[in-house]
Amino acid sequence: MATETRLMPDLLITNGTVLTMEPGSPPLPQGAVAVKGNTIVAVGPAAEVEVSATTVIDAGGGLILPGLVNTHTHLAMVLLRGLADDLPLKEWLEHHIWPAEKAVMSQEVVRLGTLWAAVESLKAGVTCVCDMYFHAPTVAEALVEAGLRAVVPESVIDFPTPSCPTPEHALQRQRELCWEYRQHPLITPAVAAHAPYSVGAKNLVKAAELAEEFDVPFLIHVAETRWEVESFLKEKGLSPVQYLANLGVLSPRTVAAHCVHVSQEDIATLADLGVGVATNPVSNLKLASGVAPLPQLLAQGVKVGFGTDGAASNNTLDLLRDAQLAALLYKGITGDPTCMPAPVVAPLLSRGGADVLGLSAHIGTLSVGKRADIICMDLTEPHAVPTFDPMSHLIYAARASDVRHVVVEGKLLLRNREVLSVDEAALRSEVQQLAAHIRKKVQKGGAL
Ligand SMILES: [Zn+2]
Repeated sequence: MATETRLMPDLLITNGTVLTMEPGSPPLPQGAVAVKGNTIVAVGPAAEVEVSATTVIDAGGGLILPGLVNTHTHLAMVLLRGLADDLPLKEWLEHHIWPAEKAVMSQEVVRLGTLWAAVESLKAGVTCVCDMYFHAPTVAEALVEAGLRAVVPESVIDFPTPSCPTPEHALQRQRELCWEYRQHPLITPAVAAHAPYSVGAKNLVKAAELAEEFDVPFLIHVAETRWEVESFLKEKGLSPVQYLANLGVLSPRTVAAHCVHVSQEDIATLADLGVGVATNPVSNLKLASGVAPLPQLLAQGVKVGFGTDGAASNNTLDLLRDAQLAALLYKGITGDPTCMPAPVVAPLLSRGGADVLGLSAHIGTLSVGKRADIICMDLTEPHAVPTFDPMSHLIYAARASDVRHVVVEGKLLLRNREVLSVDEAALRSEVQQLAAHIRKKVQKGGAL
């Protein structure tokens, strides 16, 4: 009896089609996933897996798949959603976003924004986020409270930030963060340098060395706009990718956000150095930054995952929308309807993202031994009936609001779209009150 109790799974997710996202693994109709503690202990046909468990989740005939991995975002920026739209990146950043952040992003505001972003992420089926913001210890605490898996850095930039007066201060904070969270089950500490145009060579190297010392991800925005690339070519005679490669800061631990304006030579360099690319199609289109050469990056073997970017430039954290847009965008650009097909795009949402963040040993697929980050999506709404091919459905028809249940690290965090880890209604009211305050403060400061 004692043995049976010890072996009994804590959680069983059953009555759904399982998409493991393992390479070459077909959808498993009438499948089930069993979880013990934080780990997946069985995946397969329900008849083979099904045993009693402490908690049973009925997927209701829907999809059971790995949680989505958002490889690039700025979570607390949900509070600036829609504050300044329809502007080019440089003007948007320098005249609106940075002044607004300076005016309002206190530690407490970042905590609230991060929690609210965690709620939005969970309800969109996102179980792992790679943040890039300020007040990292507060961000990490908020994400642990919400139960989300996350990569969390403190951003280094060559001017004072809302949390650090100098880059040296930010680097010291990153060191403390790396030490404190080195063995945390949910938080992977990281080092971030904002971009090659906003962080000098000396600090870029220091940041990359710190990431190497702790063997953690090194996050940076790269080649997001034509302006960035043209100014590097003019001033240094090198593209941003070649400049960073020459500095020796690119490695398999690098998460390069955007890479919109990269040459064939740059793509080969990214592939050779094992750099992961976080592609953000919605944000890149909205800011008219351009379109990343995603099919070419994938063809050269570059690791790619999707990112939403911050909600000030997306304007949501709906990662599925980025994947769905990408599947359509490249067909339109190339005139080739076979470009970026659903079976290529869908795994990038979880397996691809996990690869980019260096977390593929733990997450990204539904496989025995991996951490239990699992979502269930409903298939009963009109837009989901009939569903002949689950992969096609996910990329061409599904909606984030179809996400019904979410499990992270073996814990049920969303049940029938109800967030269990934080009080959504109380948070909403706090965010609404803060939004009124932000509007007043930003208008006063002339940021709008
Ligand atoms: Zn960004």
